[in-house]
Amino acid sequence: ESQLNPNYNFDNFLEGDSNRLARSAGLAVANKPGGTSFNPLLIFGGVGLGKTHLAHAIGVDIKDKYPEKTVLYISAEKFTQQYIESVKKNTRNDFIHFYQLIDVLIIDDVQFFSGKSGTQDVFFHIFNHLHQNGKQVILTSDKAPVDMQDIEQRLLSRFKWGLSAELQTPDYETRISILKNKLYRDGVDMPEDIIEYVAKNIKSNVRELEGAIISLIAQSSFNKREVTIELATQIVEKFVKNTKREVSIDYIQKVVSDYFQMDVATLQSKTRKRHIVQARQLAMFFAKKYTKASLASIGSQIGKRDHATVLHACKTVDNLAETDKQFRKHLEDLTKKFSQ
Ligand code: ADP
Ligand code: MG
Repeated sequence: ESQLNPNYNFDNFLEGDSNRLARSAGLAVANKPGGTSFNPLLIFGGVGLGKTHLAHAIGVDIKDKYPEKTVLYISAEKFTQQYIESVKKNTRNDFIHFYQLIDVLIIDDVQFFSGKSGTQDVFFHIFNHLHQNGKQVILTSDKAPVDMQDIEQRLLSRFKWGLSAELQTPDYETRISILKNKLYRDGVDMPEDIIEYVAKNIKSNVRELEGAIISLIAQSSFNKREVTIELATQIVEKFVKNTKREVSIDYIQKVVSDYFQMDVATLQSKTRKRHIVQARQLAMFFAKKYTKASLASIGSQIGKRDHATVLHACKTVDNLAETDKQFRKHLEDLTKKFSQ
């Protein structure tokens, strides 16, 4: 049971500037698993940019070329659950042994290992064994190794042994070809200006791009609605709004601290320096505005404050926005950043 999804392959992983390096490295690994210096191959990038698709594509291609090899795809989350289960059942050694016998191990979303020292430890041993025996390891993550948090140093250094290849947000041409490819595969015609409209307005996530075009295909094929720019606008808006709601508190803190040219640790620190306090209050304000997190949860994530502090921060931001021109400018600049 390889757990590979044959629908995710190289043929339908469209190439563009944003993914060329990662895609080519993936192909190189698929041609010679374990036999290139891309070991491990770590594919990293934001949500919906094709990490899972590419990881499967590599596995599927290897299985095609080397049917005798054992290839296993597993999410880091499932790997973690299996490991915990094995500890409970006293079968930790069997768990390790099972993974050490695999020729090509693909683990998706390794950022999930953050803070899980038992899982990291067991993975470290499996990784070393596979690597020493010339077996291929392929990993995906939402961050580059340098930006990973709560992952042990010895594991991070292993991640850096091979190649880290980034999947970037697709440029306009790639977005157009992804949309056209989807339409072509579904045998649907769509006016050129609609395709361009969708590609222009959904920029940061291939999953959303696909979601929008699937909605449009459904409206035209099943509801027999004429696909107009108005319909496209409604559908695109739905997807773009969804993106805004998905902003994370981590991301907000990063954007706010970048804007004030400080690091996140400073923003979270206990200092009473005015500009740092204001940066922190703005982060809390945006976290309340753009996430569904409770005040208590916002407080605990932004420097371990309580819910009353967050409430106070939000009120202060409202007040300052009315009385302090400079502050209002900060608020407006940041609001723009979050609505891009
Ligand atoms: P991630 O794992 O990075 O969150 P996924 O691999 O799940 O992203 O990709 C999201 C969707 O976008 C999938 O349906 C995938 O097939 C599609 N996709 C991403 N990149 C491409 C690409 N270059 N060509 C075609 N489809 C793509
Ligand atoms: Mg994924």
